[in-house]
Amino acid sequence: MEGSSTNGQVSTVQFGGENKVLVIGAGSTGLALAQGLKKARIPYVVYERDENATRKRNWSMGLHWAVPALQYLIPDELLARIQGTQTDPNVPTKDADQLPFINGQTGELIGEIKSDKFYRLRRDKIRALLLEGLDVRWGKAISDLIYSTDGRKITARFADGTEDTGSLLIASDGLHSTVRTLLVGSEKAKVTPIDFATAMCFTKHSRDRALFLRAKPHHPLYQVAPHPNGYFGWLSLHDGDDPDHPENWTFYHYISFREPRNVTNDRSNAEHVAHQKELARQFTDPFKSVFEWMPDDHPVWYGKLRQWDPSEPEHKWDDHDGRVTLAGDAAHPMTFQRGQGFNHAIMDSFLLCKGIESFWNSGDFSSEQRAAAITDYENEMIPRGGEEVRLSEANSIAMHDWEKVMQSPSMKKGMHVSHQAARIMDY
Ligand SMILES: Cc1cc2nc3c(=O)[nH]c(=O)nc-3n(C[C@H](O)[C@H](O)[C@H](O)COP(=O)(O)OP(=O)(O)OC[C@H]3O[C@@H](n4cnc5c(N)ncnc54)[C@H](O)[C@@H]3O)c2cc1C
Repeated sequence: MEGSSTNGQVSTVQFGGENKVLVIGAGSTGLALAQGLKKARIPYVVYERDENATRKRNWSMGLHWAVPALQYLIPDELLARIQGTQTDPNVPTKDADQLPFINGQTGELIGEIKSDKFYRLRRDKIRALLLEGLDVRWGKAISDLIYSTDGRKITARFADGTEDTGSLLIASDGLHSTVRTLLVGSEKAKVTPIDFATAMCFTKHSRDRALFLRAKPHHPLYQVAPHPNGYFGWLSLHDGDDPDHPENWTFYHYISFREPRNVTNDRSNAEHVAHQKELARQFTDPFKSVFEWMPDDHPVWYGKLRQWDPSEPEHKWDDHDGRVTLAGDAAHPMTFQRGQGFNHAIMDSFLLCKGIESFWNSGDFSSEQRAAAITDYENEMIPRGGEEVRLSEANSIAMHDWEKVMQSPSMKKGMHVSHQAARIMDY
């Protein structure tokens, strides 16, 4: 393979022919795209850094406006099983839903966000579903990109010294995307922290306590509670697979708090737990109790809220005539309190799949066709992703400021996104 590399040695092509799409990262974005490519009979290979499908971290994600995009990408038999990937597969998903927001101090209902079909998916379960039938190469961390001098091919080099060549490469390698670093440089590729942080807690409880956490008037699946003192509480069912044994259920909860972006948090695990409990004492039930019942040495994970806006001028990347682009969290990592990252990720996969199909299935492999398809994708994705990064940040700020909660994007816009993104099936 001739070409130029940003560093290192060039070695041999490892897998398959060269007319294929290289998908980097086996998260929701990469796998949904690969499912779509497979359905369209377009050759692809997914490369994933992890050695296997076991994830270090798990959480749940609301899938709402991007349902039609996922429907386009995945086979009907997988879509038919999406109910089973929910945090509680036993509660049928309604055609329309309302997400209650309560005052974390008093429990008073302060607003309800209306939503169309709202799936609360568990990250490990939806990933397992999306993995079905796909060609994934595990233990392959991308480390470099090489562009052929004839403008036709791109080679991905991996940390283990192997490499593979394809017609284009879609980077869906997540929050700290290596490809983003290769494209814009390490300084510009860095995610920016914002002034909030939290510690994620996953706990099990006795039967009576577990039933209490889901009992009326609480919502049985999720409870969202901004607090007048400037905190934001979240409590949801994480694993309700076993309906007859509440003692087997897992709950997912956190309280996020203001923490200036330049502060390094060096609390120990026990100190994070103690801090969450201290904040929870200012909350009403069920928040107060779920934290109180957590053992003092329970493992939790700390996280600063972070983002990267693809629409900032200095973040512009060269897609090398459509040979490389970013998707999902690699393109627009955003804070999670507006619940939009996964939906935009699936939208990216949908648009990329349609764009790749447009030239692949026409049999026109010229660089111009590929470049036009990827430019169209980027022209839609970059402003959409950028807008959502900014809205999500504004939402996180407002959710921690009692005076602004009712003016937050979640309260004012609900789960809806811009007019353009909502017209998925028009594409
Ligand atoms: C707590 C929390 C709650 C959330 N809630 C919601 C919600 O309610 N609704 C919503 O829409 N979104 C939500 N999100 C956002 C959503 O989870 C993400 O936007 C989505 O999972 C992004 O998927 P992805 O495939 O782009 O990235 P990831 O799932 O991170 O996948 C990236 C993959 O790339 C791999 N990788 C990394 N580096 C390399 C490398 N060098 N080479 C090869 N592979 C590599 C990783 O191992 C990983 O498997 C939430 C996020 C969090 C953290």
